[in-house]
Amino acid sequence: MRSFGGLIRNSTLALLTLLLLAFSVLIYLGGEVLLHRYVDGRLVSLAQTLAQLIEQRPDLLLKSSEDLVPLNDGGRTEEERHELREVAHSVLIFSAEGKLLWKGSDVGPRPTLATAVLDRLHTGEPLLETVRHADGTPARRVSIPIPRHDSLRYILQADESLLFSEKTLKGLLILLTIGSGAVVLLAWLGSGWLARKVLTPIHVLSRTAEAMSESDLGTRLMLDSPFGEFHRLTQAFNAMMDRFQRACESQRRFVDYAAHEMRTPLTILEGNLEVTLQKVRTPEEYRDALLGNLEQVERLTMLTRSLLMLTKLAGDRPPVELVPVSLEPLIRTLVNELMILADDRHITLTVDVQPAPSVRGDPQWLNQALINLLDNALRYTLPGGCVMVRLSVEGGHVAIAVEDTGQGIEPVHIPHLFERFYRTDLARARESGGTGLGLPIVKEIVERHGGFVKVESRFGKGSVFTIYLPIPAGMSV
Ligand code: ADP
Repeated sequence: MRSFGGLIRNSTLALLTLLLLAFSVLIYLGGEVLLHRYVDGRLVSLAQTLAQLIEQRPDLLLKSSEDLVPLNDGGRTEEERHELREVAHSVLIFSAEGKLLWKGSDVGPRPTLATAVLDRLHTGEPLLETVRHADGTPARRVSIPIPRHDSLRYILQADESLLFSEKTLKGLLILLTIGSGAVVLLAWLGSGWLARKVLTPIHVLSRTAEAMSESDLGTRLMLDSPFGEFHRLTQAFNAMMDRFQRACESQRRFVDYAAHEMRTPLTILEGNLEVTLQKVRTPEEYRDALLGNLEQVERLTMLTRSLLMLTKLAGDRPPVELVPVSLEPLIRTLVNELMILADDRHITLTVDVQPAPSVRGDPQWLNQALINLLDNALRYTLPGGCVMVRLSVEGGHVAIAVEDTGQGIEPVHIPHLFERFYRTDLARARESGGTGLGLPIVKEIVERHGGFVKVESRFGKGSVFTIYLPIPAGMSV
């Protein structure tokens, strides 16, 4: 497996080396161009001055090289005269045909003027070239035509050594190499330190994660870092662990409750069967025992169905398909179906429907949510009471309220009603037959539709459970 620290280190080094290389090449080439320009400029300007001198006073050619720049040349400073004399030592003067007429004291034996150079100078343009002297010294050479009466009279050739430029460039190259090497070395050490710094929280994170076990989800990341990013990482990791711990605990509680809820009917079933099997019974006794067992099996079936529903709804892909649903016919059909049950319990079941737009919903699941609410309302309302289903529009929502004049709920229970397996003491005492999963299922269904549920209750007077579903954009009453 590749190491991230190594990646940071190698990438930093590769990038830096590349940048340094590009920088060094740029500086070296730039330095070379600037030096050559300086040498060329100086050489051409001095040679041109000498050419002018000769053009004006060709008689100077008859004297020795020291006198080529006259001491009494009025218009020049001492420094200029000195510079001119220095160049004059390397000067050669040729006739228009390329015959050597005069040469400076520093000039060694040199071949005659090449015909290519001669041809070029006949055009009147000066010529610059890089040459190497017999002793191997590199030099820049300028050849300048000196005209007389519009025709080429003399050719002046002057050299300037490139030894100094080459030494300077060599020095620059050494400086750049040593400098770059030092920077790369520092970067190598620095990137190691940086990689360690960057990876510290990751190491702490892995150690904490490794130290965590299912039985110890309370461990939290302790990272003492002055950097905001690491601080945020710590917070995010700990917040995730909080959520994870809560989810695990809720999952554990859920399994615990489910097992507990299943144990009761199973224990009753087991007891019934054991007692029945203790002796030979009459057919009526067997029938009663079987009926008692059937009741427990029905309870188990209901519990399993509710558990399955909740698992499906709370899963990643809940089986809810949203289509336009008109709620009035859905409510009326359901109420008609439950009318027999309400009559049986001597409860008046009514509907109050106001015009409401269609919502986007899954008719089957919405039906299930209403069944759960109506089932509760009918179960927790005494004979002679009333249950009403009201359809209305409230703000941007369609509201379906299930109202009853039943036993009501004590305020202390209200915040917990939608928790799984939660039942009020009253419901437990009466053994209402409920599972404590009806309202959590309603909540899951409604939330999968983008809505919410509200409860209002007055203990001893009755309760109202209201489902709010969003009105889709563009829909109106
Ligand atoms: P159950 O299957 O026990 O009814 P629910 O989740 O549907 O489970 O309801 C949870 C608890 O809320 C019930 O046990 C009951 O105590 C209380 N409850 C729900 N609806 C009503 C109601 N309409 N009137 C009074 N109490 C209710």
